[in-house]
Amino acid sequence: MAFALAVHAGAGTLQPEKQIQPFIHAGLRAALLAGFAVLADGGTALDAVTAAVVTMEDNPLFNAGRGSVLTMEGSAEMDAAIMEGAGRRAGAVGGITGPRNPILAARMVMQRSEHVLLVGEGAIRFLREQGMAMETPDYFVTERRQAVLLAELSRRADELNKPSHDAAKAQDSKHGTVGAVACDKAGTLAAATSTGGMTAKLPGRLSDSPLIGAGTFADNATCAVSATGHGEPFIRWVVAHDVSARMRYLRETLDQAAGNVVAELAQVGGSGGLIAVDTSGRITLPFNSQGMYRGTIGVDGAPMTAIWREKLT
Ligand code: ASP
Repeated sequence: MAFALAVHAGAGTLQPEKQIQPFIHAGLRAALLAGFAVLADGGTALDAVTAAVVTMEDNPLFNAGRGSVLTMEGSAEMDAAIMEGAGRRAGAVGGITGPRNPILAARMVMQRSEHVLLVGEGAIRFLREQGMAMETPDYFVTERRQAVLLAELSRRADELNKPSHDAAKAQDSKHGTVGAVACDKAGTLAAATSTGGMTAKLPGRLSDSPLIGAGTFADNATCAVSATGHGEPFIRWVVAHDVSARMRYLRETLDQAAGNVVAELAQVGGSGGLIAVDTSGRITLPFNSQGMYRGTIGVDGAPMTAIWREKLT
């Protein structure tokens, strides 16, 4: 039976310094191989997307876990969600600082509580009671993200004095997210998404990532989706579920459904993209921004990655 996995690590006006590009490819490959090891061994899609996202959360280059972007007050507040396509089981956390791997926190909410989404202090209390180890807040904060925050705050101060402020364009350079979707040997789907959100966000702001149906969705009847981009339009357009709904009600293929949703988003200033997989292991990776950190792996075990519009290699 075929299996497949795709990952992303954010979309937008990607301008990684030349010297860090190999590390981005390496980070994507490490995530793909972690998920592949699970799937090749007959493991579940849920375990595969968890393993892939954990590696990217631990990688300070990506906006999730350690290295998350910072709120306007300089703290890291993270969101994550996980969903399984058999029975639509789901768990999510929002606005948390503490668990090293927010995706494991989301999974704990799914497996050990009767709820889908826990946020803030209540979430932390629950996770602590469940025995989850906590990091101190400074574990998540990197110098690189502090520099980006300072640049963003001073850009905002300058923008206030300029008449034409292209808000959508300005958003592009300061977000990112990591995510994974998988189809396992049994044909079960799963999706996982984890993010620090957007640079200089208001404390308390939630992204699309932890919202089931917006940034994350999985249903064995259709597909598994993890999205990345400017979260507010992704929430209002209920992106991940819209891909599934088009397949279900309009009988569109995975490619058509995902492509149409991402094209529609472009028209309303929703910059970004998504990764999706169906139960036959087909993968699609559409985006409407300059690029999207992305990669795929299948039964041959060869990780393929790309940053901008070039083909996966
Ligand atoms: N969707 C995330 C957010 O709105 C950011 C991203 O995916 O780039 O916070």
